[in-house]
Amino acid sequence: MNRLRNTDIKYLKGVGPKRAELLEKQLGIKSYYDMLFHFPSHYVDRSTIYTIKSLSGEMPAIQIRGHFISFTTQGEGAKTRLVGLFTDGTGTIEVVWFRRIKQLKDTYHIGNEYILFAKPSEFNGRWSMVHPEVDSPSSIGAIQGLRGVYPLTETLRNKGIGSKTLFTLAQTILSSSPRISETLPQSIIDQLHLMPLRDALVNIHNPKDNQTLQRAKLRLKFEELFYIQLNILRYSRRRSASLNGFRFPRIGHFFNSFYSECLPFELTGAQKRVIKEIRADMGSGRQMNRLLQGDVGSGKTLVALLCMLIALDNNTQACLMAPTEILATQHFETITQLVAPIGINVKLLTGSTRKKERDTIHSQLEDGALHILIGTHAVIEDNVKFKNLGFVVIDEQHRFGVAQRARLWGKNITPPHVLVMTATPIPRTLAMTVYGDLDVSVIDELPPGRKPITTALRFDNQRLDVYKHIGRQLKEGRQIYIVYPLIQENEKLDLRCLEEGYELIRETFPQYKVAYVHGKMKPSEKDYQMSLFASHQADILVATTVIEVGVNVPNATTMLIENAERFGLSQLHQLRGRVGRGEGQSYCILMTKHKIASDTRKRLEIMTSTTDGFLIAEADLKMRGPGDMEGTMQSGIAINLRIANLATDGQIIQLARDTAEMLLDKDPTLSHPENVILHQQLALIFNKTIDWGRIS
Ligand code: ADP
Ligand code: MG
Repeated sequence: MNRLRNTDIKYLKGVGPKRAELLEKQLGIKSYYDMLFHFPSHYVDRSTIYTIKSLSGEMPAIQIRGHFISFTTQGEGAKTRLVGLFTDGTGTIEVVWFRRIKQLKDTYHIGNEYILFAKPSEFNGRWSMVHPEVDSPSSIGAIQGLRGVYPLTETLRNKGIGSKTLFTLAQTILSSSPRISETLPQSIIDQLHLMPLRDALVNIHNPKDNQTLQRAKLRLKFEELFYIQLNILRYSRRRSASLNGFRFPRIGHFFNSFYSECLPFELTGAQKRVIKEIRADMGSGRQMNRLLQGDVGSGKTLVALLCMLIALDNNTQACLMAPTEILATQHFETITQLVAPIGINVKLLTGSTRKKERDTIHSQLEDGALHILIGTHAVIEDNVKFKNLGFVVIDEQHRFGVAQRARLWGKNITPPHVLVMTATPIPRTLAMTVYGDLDVSVIDELPPGRKPITTALRFDNQRLDVYKHIGRQLKEGRQIYIVYPLIQENEKLDLRCLEEGYELIRETFPQYKVAYVHGKMKPSEKDYQMSLFASHQADILVATTVIEVGVNVPNATTMLIENAERFGLSQLHQLRGRVGRGEGQSYCILMTKHKIASDTRKRLEIMTSTTDGFLIAEADLKMRGPGDMEGTMQSGIAINLRIANLATDGQIIQLARDTAEMLLDKDPTLSHPENVILHQQLALIFNKTIDWGRIS
């Protein structure tokens, strides 16, 4: 295996320095190993040769075997094409090329035997193939069985490196490597009846048949997921064994007086359960790392506050970090109001906090006079020092990178307990992988009395009706969100759309005030516009997704999302969560242009059929893949899987985790001779200097 990892791809027959550079740049293939682990995305069946007589119009790409009878050049200028007449004795077929004509004429010879591979098509009773793959029967390309088709880039194709080239390269490496050493302990291979590594590699590129392909895939997926789980688990075990956390045995004055005097409503069952879970953690002496998942509006803030009060009761300070200034401010206002009667010192620290206030905060934090600090990234700056930080809450955690969290973590000698809160429900399989070392609590119940939001899909030609609805809501004194997509790649066009939308709304509802926010604005302008809406000085807010996270305006009852097809499901769900927060019946309207593809429509119909964030997240994961899921990109762990799929390989993930657990139970330090290989692999795969176990 080391030989494969250490041999530069440029030394491979058929590569050389130029192609090597291309392969590295385009696909990240640097070594023999990288090439072998660049897996096909799908397969074509090269096991059968068809006769021309038996061709039919519905066939996918197939093979025929025979020889050319003639070549003629037809057409002129840009339309020039080379047409070869090909026969296998049962009929004839025209083979057409539009490019590299001269070269091809010299490459293929009349009378020689070839295998052609392409999708056949019929026109006026004559069969043809355009740009087929052509192989002589003895070449590597003509290998039988299923043949891998590889992910490629346009650049590579233009430079003449196609799927067949990659297939050939992989075959060349395999045929020169009769032995490839195992990367899993033999005991695991035996116990789970896994395919040996070399067989798996051979059969992933050129499977004998479909059944063998499935076994090869299982082996490779298992290995990929197994090492991720082993890595997560060994760190979390080491951490819980060696790192002592604060022990908070007391429930005292702050918690009790808040609970009896200030609690604005009865806690839901789910809130109570979660608080119990967190309390048990904080009382155990083990440092807590807990992920709190709860749909938008499920009441996470109150849970966080009650837990912070427990920290206060045990003579420590607490800190709540939010991803935006608006959110931090909102938390600050909610919390100061809630705790006003019990005399707690709460302060807000953001980028725009004035120097004087900032100095006060700094000194109060250090002498312990400040109980709870709420803020944005500003709270993790080095000059923010706590006397004794015992509890950290991170809201909407996916907006923070792991490195940022780690800095909060390091603010105390005894590591504070950490509660990470997210409203983006994470499917279990993903959570197991991305947050595999966090304990998870779930608030799966909304506070009583919420009216379900009515969600509808509407098309451009129904805009008038939609505006009528908005008019009625406005007349009742309600407020309206209107959201437009704004993505970097399409920024100019998107901004224009937004602007036009804004103008249209102002013209349609001249008697109402419209606020206007987008991510490209100066923060101060943005905050001003948002505050207009929050204080009901504006009735309509036209915005991009800057309002996605956390904003709370209970009087807003309609969320209109323009170009809804361009949003991810989880994002739509977040946006929808901005309404339905007060007494009024709320609506979410997904607008699209009249013509949308049927799978787009299906995707949007998930939104109209359910409000369950977990179901939506599962569907989103299945459709978009984990790379795009919010929460993974900034989670700090690159989920860059070569072959496993977090959406569909749940069972293998579970198997990998169970196997890793069992292994660590038997051999916690992995020092058994047979497990040496595990150390080597972990080092190779996770050769990072960051100790993930100490983070999040
Ligand atoms: P999220 O989980 O999205 O952060 P919040 O903490 O902002 O939700 O709570 C949403 C709203 O529900 C707030 O207005 C809050 O005051 C209210 N709320 C929270 N818990 C309860 C409860 N047990 N009963 C009634 N209302 C509640
Ligand atoms: Mg919240």
